[in-house]
Amino acid sequence: MQPSDPVTSLVRLTPIQLSALKKLGIATILDLLYHFPSRYDEAGAEESIAGLVAGQEATIFGTIKKLETRKSWKRKVPIGEAVIEDGSGSVKVMWFHQPYIAKKFTEGMFVKAVGTVGGKDNKLYLANPHVEGADPAEAGLFSKPVAENDERQFFAVYPESRGVTSLWFRHAIDRALKSGIVDSLQDPIPAQTREKYNLPDIASALRFIHVPTDIRHAEAARKRFSFEEIFAIQVARALERASNDAQHSFSIPDAFDSAQRFLASILFKPTRAQKRAIEEICDDFNKAASSKKGTSGPMARLLEGDVGSGKTLVAAAASYATVTSRPPGRQSGTLQVAYMAPTEILAQQHFESFIEYFKDLPINIGLITGSGCKKFPSKSSPGNATTISRSQLLKWVGNGEIAMLVGTHALIQKSIQFQHLALAIVDEQHRFGTRQRRALAHKGDAAPHFLSMTATPIPRTLALTIYGDLDISVLDELPPGRAKITTAIVPAKDRLLAYEAIRSQLRQGRQAYVICPRIDEPDPEKLNAIQAKSAKAESVRLQKDVFPEFKIGLLHGAMKPKEKDEVMRAFAEGEIDLLVATSVVEVGVNVPNATSIIIEGAERFGLSQLHQLRGRVMRSSHTPFCYLFAETKSDVSLKRLRALASTQDGFKLAEADLENRGAGDLFGRSQWGVSDIGMEALKNPRLISAAREEAQGLVASHRELSSSLLTRVEKIAGELHGE
Ligand code: ADP
Ligand code: MG
Repeated sequence: MQPSDPVTSLVRLTPIQLSALKKLGIATILDLLYHFPSRYDEAGAEESIAGLVAGQEATIFGTIKKLETRKSWKRKVPIGEAVIEDGSGSVKVMWFHQPYIAKKFTEGMFVKAVGTVGGKDNKLYLANPHVEGADPAEAGLFSKPVAENDERQFFAVYPESRGVTSLWFRHAIDRALKSGIVDSLQDPIPAQTREKYNLPDIASALRFIHVPTDIRHAEAARKRFSFEEIFAIQVARALERASNDAQHSFSIPDAFDSAQRFLASILFKPTRAQKRAIEEICDDFNKAASSKKGTSGPMARLLEGDVGSGKTLVAAAASYATVTSRPPGRQSGTLQVAYMAPTEILAQQHFESFIEYFKDLPINIGLITGSGCKKFPSKSSPGNATTISRSQLLKWVGNGEIAMLVGTHALIQKSIQFQHLALAIVDEQHRFGTRQRRALAHKGDAAPHFLSMTATPIPRTLALTIYGDLDISVLDELPPGRAKITTAIVPAKDRLLAYEAIRSQLRQGRQAYVICPRIDEPDPEKLNAIQAKSAKAESVRLQKDVFPEFKIGLLHGAMKPKEKDEVMRAFAEGEIDLLVATSVVEVGVNVPNATSIIIEGAERFGLSQLHQLRGRVMRSSHTPFCYLFAETKSDVSLKRLRALASTQDGFKLAEADLENRGAGDLFGRSQWGVSDIGMEALKNPRLISAAREEAQGLVASHRELSSSLLTRVEKIAGELHGE
């Protein structure tokens, strides 16, 4: 048996189990061994059924009896029911609205149930408990006291999927651990590195994490696997970077002077942070060599800056330096810039900003979106832009006549080829897949300098991990003269006061947002569904009952892109006074006249997301207001929200999120391609920098990577490229 053999060579699988494993991303025995427990339960920590009291959070073990499903006689709610019995007594279990859960079990099955005890005295029950198949050995106290020579007291609890229970994992993994495969595994972490940081080797770590006899061993193993993942990611990033640096790109030797000229031509003074970022970019432009001499490759840089920190100006300075440069060895023409924005509205807005910035330059600026193409200046009316055909645009981009092309995804279509693309800029880059970003980098004869921009404040450890192949510039300063936002946590009784405050703003001609946590009404099938406001219902209610005299619009993620754009256009042009939306407005929408925002169910958003949302009303010199409506009375939640009221620094808030809610919650694996265990490392900056240093050292040494590491790295690189 090999680690790369399918799980079926270890245990027999039903089709349901097979597909459940597939869903969890488990195909091979090695994958199975890397399916780590989400927690450990200690044997003997459970309650006896006879000792249960109402209101208590209890864990019980017992046998399932009297399974049935029925409808409640009053409300016709479907209910699944059973009785769980242990040596001491029995208790009723009910699953409201989820009768299908009862079908997962059979009578006589031995289970563990965790839930809150309801009812009173001798009529106790567990409502909607979490129930899973259990190992009788786990129920140490009742069925089999832990023998003295058997030190194993911790039971791993695994993330489940329908068809494969935690218990199933325990058995299957036990079998894999006993098969000897573990001792033949090659460790992806080089021995030196393991020794340096005192990390257990792979075989010990796998045993420690799945069947710990001491919880500290399990912790050491988790740390090792966190390190392993970050290390592998960093190796992938370092390789990526090395291949970037080996490419040809255009050198722009006088970038700095051009950028200075540009800054002198605009009305305001750049902030110190903007100047610093522009210098860093110009340095990269300088260093890059287009000739055969030692090259440092194209720029690969991320510009991080809070909403409103002025990233566009930095992009404009870099673009200016580019479009005022000649291609090497040429007497005419200019280097070209591509600027990709996530939506049509933003592309249009940026097109207009760049026209404004560059109107005195003898260059053409193009716009391409799904709904058409434009060019500035127009031949017949030089102060204006004009609509042109796609084929004309393609031609002028291809022969270099259009120096700067702004657009949406439409920019990366195969048919678009530049003559001398020297700089590619991606705005709000987290909205694009890596593959789309890379596609933009292959549009010309040399590799373009690459500038990614993001306003998504993430903790530094996460930035170093997911953007490990990029250099980072940070705009940690807002332009002066911004009105400070007032953020208020509004108790339920003051809801109407907040509405009145908004009404007075609307009367003065301002606009406002109301953000709701969900699109639709809660799913009636879910008993415990939180009764959070829905955008659809709220827009109707506000129009009818609260703001009948104003025009209310609705925007949410389930709408078609065309519909969304239309609503945003109407809002931008003031046809809509108040926009009820889900968090889709988080993306860099710029409507300076919108000065107030209400956020419903505020406790359900992360701090950095709330910060992004309130950024929508900080686009002008009007005083902005943010009203947080919380449905919770919990001290912890309110304290968390107060942090928002007291700071305006998005990056600080992201760090606070990491502290408060844990990495896994907030920065989910689907979003970043980092697993839960890798995410655990984010709270540990020393681990991140150690893994990064080791990885960069390994790649720089040109030592051959072990095949187990190479496999990991290739998988990460594959995910990175969206394959
Ligand atoms: P973001 O970083 O969110 O993309 P923008 O580039 O849209 O921010 O800038 C927000 C606003 O601030 C714009 O109206 C822009 O003109 C203005 N701005 C940018 N830099 C400065 C500055 N140094 N001084 C004054 N205003 C500035
Ligand atoms: Mg922006």
